[in-house]
Amino acid sequence: MTVEITRATIDRYNRPGPRYTSYPTVPHWNAQFTADDYLAALRDVAATADPISVYVHLPFCAERCAYCGCNATSTKRADVVDHYLDRLERELAMVTAALGTGRKVVQLHWGGGTPNFLNEAQSRRLMGLLRASFTIDPEAEVALEVDPRIGSREQVFLFRELGFNRISFGVQDIAHDVQVAIGRIQPLSQTETVVLAARDAGFASVNIDLVYGLPYQTPASFAATLQAMIDLRPDRVACFSYAHLPQARPNQKRVDARQLPTGYDKFQLFLQAIDAFTAVGYEWIGMDHFALADDELAVAARERRLQRNFMGYTVLPAPHQIGFGMSAIGDLAGRYAQNDAHLGNYQRAIDAGELPITRGMRLSDDDLMRRKAIMHLMCNLEVPFDLALPPHGQPLGEAFAAEIERIAAYADDGLVEVEPRRLRVTERGRFFVRNLAMELDRYLQQATERPIFSSTV
Ligand code: SF4
Repeated sequence: MTVEITRATIDRYNRPGPRYTSYPTVPHWNAQFTADDYLAALRDVAATADPISVYVHLPFCAERCAYCGCNATSTKRADVVDHYLDRLERELAMVTAALGTGRKVVQLHWGGGTPNFLNEAQSRRLMGLLRASFTIDPEAEVALEVDPRIGSREQVFLFRELGFNRISFGVQDIAHDVQVAIGRIQPLSQTETVVLAARDAGFASVNIDLVYGLPYQTPASFAATLQAMIDLRPDRVACFSYAHLPQARPNQKRVDARQLPTGYDKFQLFLQAIDAFTAVGYEWIGMDHFALADDELAVAARERRLQRNFMGYTVLPAPHQIGFGMSAIGDLAGRYAQNDAHLGNYQRAIDAGELPITRGMRLSDDDLMRRKAIMHLMCNLEVPFDLALPPHGQPLGEAFAAEIERIAAYADDGLVEVEPRRLRVTERGRFFVRNLAMELDRYLQQATERPIFSSTV
């Protein structure tokens, strides 16, 4: 990196903040939002011709990794999955009763947990249910997350046959001592097998997830991980910051916090990733993603039309996202809705014939405007003063003049540059883009107590 970031800068800006996959962020949603409110939102979508995104949460894993921050549960039993699919079938029926069947889907994502914990019959059943409920556009992004430890060449080909065209493999780190410390032993050969299979099966995009800031990671060990991934040449890499929040995620109590690289040392690992990937043809996308220059994500980032939702960065935004399964989140008709994150509660609600919504929010005009401004900043690294904000098209510069002034003050530390028609986030500012976005977050500005969020790096 040509940009130099001092320890003092890290210390100054490395503070807890949201990742802004939503605005307002989840802690500000409320339990007064009910299943009836969700049904009303579905009916509002039904009255439009808008295409949708669909997310299905598959929470099962063979074992719980110590570092995991997902809504996941471990089981050895296939029948537990069958019973869960029964509930998904009923949830699909309840949702399509309000939405109508056959709605066009431009983005479908199976996340988890471990979606490839499903066996062949279960995978076929779930895709069959989805195809019976929706019309999956031939150009749709159809993606899933795969754990290489339980994957195989045959399974990767099965997913391609089922219509998936994007696949994401969890790797995190290849060093054995790191893997022991995070409770996830994954020989490199397992990753190589499934990545090669994905290429041979004709997936349009192969992604690998890495995590920096894990116990025992050192510059030397992480360099080996980065080189091994570069050798595999995935189209995209996500390099996430490990967020150690054992009070919110009890499984992380198994992680020895004394062995975690923190602050400046952790930051150096991320710099290493940037250097390694950008040196061999990847572009740094948004906060923590990399994509080959001809990948559609990199093209969209260059053209400043990258978007962000609960599934990550995307180039194919649908105006509404509908989530299925425990803890799944919907974002539809100006409302957020989340299903119960407890497996038993989720299943009991479905058995009682109720949609399992436990919290949500109807966005105000102010929320919608700030959401657009924050997402544009997070994705495209600029605050354009003439960006038209929903719902009435007011220009950003007019709506948030005071916030722009506060963000412009970060020019003193070289995080932004003030241009005539926009604030532009500099290379240095990219590392702290969440801090900049927090200036547009009305809820944080008003809060006396901050919810638990991870630190910037
Ligand atoms: S990290 Fe992935 S495989 Fe491990 S427990 Fe979490 S969801 Fe399951």
